[in-house]
Amino acid sequence: MAVPKKNQSNQRTRKRRANWKGSLQTLTKCTNCGETHRPHNVCGSCGYYNGKQFIQTAEA
Ligand SMILES: [Zn+2]
Repeated sequence: MAVPKKNQSNQRTRKRRANWKGSLQTLTKCTNCGETHRPHNVCGSCGYYNGKQFIQTAEA
C-alpha cells in the first residue's frame, strides 16, 4: 500500500534504493570485423549490419 512520503524515513527509502544495481551492457561480436558491438545495431568500427554496409567508414 502507498505510504505518504513524509511518513517514510530517509533510511527506509535509502535502504530500498541501495539494492538498485546497474547491469553490464550486452555486446555481440561483429561477423565482418570481429569487433564487439551492441546487438541489432550497426557495427561502430566497420559500419556493417546483417552482412551489408550501412555506414561508410575510413577503413572501407
Ligand atoms: Zn564490424
